[in-house]
Amino acid sequence: MSNDQSPPLRVMALHALAYCERLFYLEEVEELYVADDRVYAGRELLESLGAGRTSLDGDPDEPGQPMSLDLSCPTLGLVGRVDVLKRRNGQLTPYEHKRGRARRGAGGEPLAWESDALQAAAYALMVEEAYGVAVPEARVRYHRDRVTVRVAIDQAMRRKVVDAIERARNLRDRLERPPVTSNENLCRRCSLAPVCLPEESRRALDEGYVPKRLFPEKDSRTTLHVVSAASRVGRDAECLVITTSDGEKIRRPSGEIGAVVLHGMAQISTQALRLCADRDIAVHWVTQTGRHIGSLTTTAGQVQRRIRQYNALYGQTGDATRLRLAKALVTARIEGQRRYILRVTRQRDAARKCVEPALREIGRAAQQAGSAKSIDELRGYEGVAARAYWSVFNDLLSETVPEELRFAGRTRRPATDRLSAALNFGYGLLKTAVMRAVLSSGLEPAIGFYHTPRSAAHPLVLDLMEPFRLLLWDIPLIGALNRGQFDPSADFTTTKGAVWLSDQGRRKAIGLFEARLQEVWKHPVVGYSLSYARTIELEARLLEKEWSGEPGLFARLRLR
Ligand code: SF4
Repeated sequence: MSNDQSPPLRVMALHALAYCERLFYLEEVEELYVADDRVYAGRELLESLGAGRTSLDGDPDEPGQPMSLDLSCPTLGLVGRVDVLKRRNGQLTPYEHKRGRARRGAGGEPLAWESDALQAAAYALMVEEAYGVAVPEARVRYHRDRVTVRVAIDQAMRRKVVDAIERARNLRDRLERPPVTSNENLCRRCSLAPVCLPEESRRALDEGYVPKRLFPEKDSRTTLHVVSAASRVGRDAECLVITTSDGEKIRRPSGEIGAVVLHGMAQISTQALRLCADRDIAVHWVTQTGRHIGSLTTTAGQVQRRIRQYNALYGQTGDATRLRLAKALVTARIEGQRRYILRVTRQRDAARKCVEPALREIGRAAQQAGSAKSIDELRGYEGVAARAYWSVFNDLLSETVPEELRFAGRTRRPATDRLSAALNFGYGLLKTAVMRAVLSSGLEPAIGFYHTPRSAAHPLVLDLMEPFRLLLWDIPLIGALNRGQFDPSADFTTTKGAVWLSDQGRRKAIGLFEARLQEVWKHPVVGYSLSYARTIELEARLLEKEWSGEPGLFARLRLR
């Protein structure tokens, strides 16, 4: 039955398979796991049973502790852990414990769900092989109902287990992800819904479909910025401890943190890094001017996703796919700029008159971008729109903004004016946020579709930043400048050839950016509201769908 070449299957994987083939694939092939409240509650339930874990040497007859058992079955090619194994009336019986309710039959009688029955039956067959005895039944305990359901290990059930193993092996060898289940109720209870995005997949296949939100509105974890050069991040048990330059210690539980951003020369200990790696906390290093240097995340294992990405962007039809995606991206950016200029100058006749020529140029560029025949041509239209946008940037600022903070030409690294320094710093923050979304979506940042591959930058991150530059930095920065929040002296450090944000200026910019990330808006395509931080992640996952059989939703977000 088992093929010696292929690794054993986890019995839990058969449970996932019976629940939804896509769930099986995401967990077993793409190695995606989301430990949500339900998963933690399941673990707690098992701990509360007090089942002592043991090997085959343990005796299920032994009085006292119930016994959970690690099993390996070479004949079936399965491994797994029985929740509890009991001997009753001379028969060995494996028990599965579930937090939820039992299925109900036509007469209201409790029955095991198909996935639970399959899992319990697989354990029964493994116990048979391990102990060399017949196991005529397994049982599933449903704790919410407080009922125990019997699962007969008859020929039909044995066949089901064998067929499921074969199906699982076939799926494991495939590169294509199975489609979403047709049973929407399963998705509502599925821990992988936020990464599978079943509702968005249904929307991609049917323009008229209105997705329900299974994607969390906000990330409950925050980003910890360590700005001052003398600050140090250490570890104390499950907390990160930030020691500031004046010796103050700030403790933050690791469960509250999604990312750590170390600015300039801020330090982090090996122990803290280890905690971050264990708790799925991304660590990013950026320079004082906001340039992203590198990131540490634990994304090993999502090989299939990367192979699909590479095949899609650089395989047989790669040229066409790259152009299609780049057109969507550039159109989104240009259209956003046009709408923003219109919005800001709506009530200001004089300003509107000034920006009219630029608006016409941007509108024309948006149209031409939509029908560009090559990426180079597209870059030309994007450049035209960008020049027009920057040419009216000062018209978007209030008259009270001091001259030193107004637009005087775009300079990058080093910035030679204050506005460019603030823009560069904010785009650097955006880059770390996009990098985090790209990596957590299992995408390869080095394989992009619009920006030219360079060793110093990640093309896919630069690509995905495009529609967010305006939404997440230009707009909040313009708002802050108009409100007089930036001080041209205290918030900037200037030398002869360069300008950058001072410590105080960086703190302001970080506060502004993080507040913007937490703002909630209604996504125009999926139709539900979510924070901008979540929107970046959603777009990264929608991008991945572009080459995973559910295309059409990426880069359709627009400023209203
Ligand atoms: S969200 Fe739905 S389609 Fe996706 S894995 Fe879960 S059950 Fe399957």
